[in-house]
Amino acid sequence: MNQAVAPPTSGAPELSIPRLLAGQKALVTGANSGIGQGVALALGQAGADVAVNYVVDDDAAQSVIDKLHGFGVKAMKIKADVSDEDQVAAMFKQAINAFGTIDILVNNAGLQRDSAFHDMTLEQWNKVISVNLTGQFLCAREAVREFTRRGVIPEVSCAAGKIICMSSVHQEIPWAGHANYASSKGGIKMLMESLAQEVASLKIRVNAIAPGAIRTPINTNAWNTKEAYKALMTLVPYGRIGEPEDIARAAVWLASDQSDYVVGTTLFVDGGMTLAPGFATGG
Ligand code: NAD
Repeated sequence: MNQAVAPPTSGAPELSIPRLLAGQKALVTGANSGIGQGVALALGQAGADVAVNYVVDDDAAQSVIDKLHGFGVKAMKIKADVSDEDQVAAMFKQAINAFGTIDILVNNAGLQRDSAFHDMTLEQWNKVISVNLTGQFLCAREAVREFTRRGVIPEVSCAAGKIICMSSVHQEIPWAGHANYASSKGGIKMLMESLAQEVASLKIRVNAIAPGAIRTPINTNAWNTKEAYKALMTLVPYGRIGEPEDIARAAVWLASDQSDYVVGTTLFVDGGMTLAPGFATGG
């Protein structure tokens, strides 16, 4: 029998979100679940109008919209598959028509199709690369086109636009049984850094967040039994699972002028997972 586990609050602090993004317009992909939902809500609490991208589960997207309206900002939901070029172009067109422009893109949508390497199908490989990596390319390209067209509006932000790529600790940590996923995240690292280098002179800031283990539907079996949670904690020096809000606060900061000189950086939000925890007792 599964026993529930990661305690409902896990000791994560409940902190208010500073209103750093008033007047800005954001688009968050995969925003009706997990980290994307947390980020969309935090951007709204920070004062941004938010376009909520989703691909399945209209009700969950509507619930995010309703909460955003409760913060007094504009919100719209847009159904689009981020791996489809035409759907991504149409999504940006719809958001820009409604909001006037987009100042912030959070490239968050992602998935896993896990398999032992020798059994991994081309379909499993292609699905993960096309959503996790090509999806970020397609959305970033539309965002860069819009940021370049508009340029800097000093009353809104010091930058012409901000892109935040949701990566993973697996852009650094190899992951047996997940070669497609780890490859997509390693790809995001170089996509983010190359793009950041290319567009910095246009006053566009591109950065990434690398979450560690965050409690969302993507990794339920890593935290939903006592045994799994205990095993997970051997990888997390800080001793608790991450919550979507831990990532969301980092996203608000990276999207705001408070981080204006931060360009091409990956911010690890992982409770120390990348600190080689096996060496904590001397190795
Ligand atoms: P999740 O499954 O809760 O959310 C993923 C979202 O992406 C969902 O809304 C899903 O519908 C959406 N999505 C999937 N395919 C899509 C497509 N083709 N087009 C548009 N949207 C699509 O999982 P999550 O944990 O919130 O994951 C969000 C991001 O964070 C992913 O990029 C994931 O790789 C990354 N991440 C998560 C963790 C973690 O521990 N949860 C750790 C590191 C990185």
